[in-house]
Amino acid sequence: MHRVMRVFLAICVALAAGKESEGDGETKPYRQILLFGPPAVGKGTQAKKIVERYGVCHISTGDMLRAEANAAKPSPIGKRAKAVMARGGLLPDDLMIRMVKKRLRKDKACRKKGWLLDGFPRTRLQAEALLTERRASLRPDAVVLIERPDELVKEFALGRCTDARTGQTYHPVYAPPPEELYDQLVWRVDDTYEALERRLADHKASIDGIIAAFEAGGVPVRRFDNAR
Ligand code: ADP
Repeated sequence: MHRVMRVFLAICVALAAGKESEGDGETKPYRQILLFGPPAVGKGTQAKKIVERYGVCHISTGDMLRAEANAAKPSPIGKRAKAVMARGGLLPDDLMIRMVKKRLRKDKACRKKGWLLDGFPRTRLQAEALLTERRASLRPDAVVLIERPDELVKEFALGRCTDARTGQTYHPVYAPPPEELYDQLVWRVDDTYEALERRLADHKASIDGIIAAFEAGGVPVRRFDNAR
């Protein structure tokens, strides 16, 4: 079976487990899901499929920051994000926590349908900010952790490009773009060797703390191997 589908079906099985609701003891499907993993691990591809399948809102902090950074008139946050993202650094925790909480609180559709949060948390402090929330609508039900060896992460990230019109990702070896799209392909500014090394190092430095925080908070973490 194709790798993308194999991983997606495994995620569906894990999400089907659901959680017992406190009132009636019935099992409810997970509707507040965190998607987590190193850069270029296939989160975007899986996010699209999970959102289609479960009808939840997709909240990507990377997309939110890129929208701010690439706005015709970037806000102060947008300008700051542009510089930090280009070198593969992280925006400050307090700024990101405020941004995500505001979005989850204000977006009624997300509260109603549930959400898939992608790109957050990046640090233990960010994880704890969700776990200490009293509002149930901000607390994740489960964490989907996608993994892939570093060598493959580098091969994917350093080769990938995106169709500017549809957002579809391509790769010269694994998913070659059709010739008619050549003129509209774009490359992420942070998919350079140096920025990627930094993003990978940040991920490695924080992953154990983030997982420990979720486990201590009673949020199940499911791991998926996206290597083959
Ligand atoms: P990837 O998972 O491929 O690294 P994202 O699109 O999730 O990419 O994020 C792109 C960039 O946006 C990150 O490298 C970082 O600079 C910034 N960013 C996104 N989410 C966060 C966050 N939760 N905390 C700090 N910085 C973030």
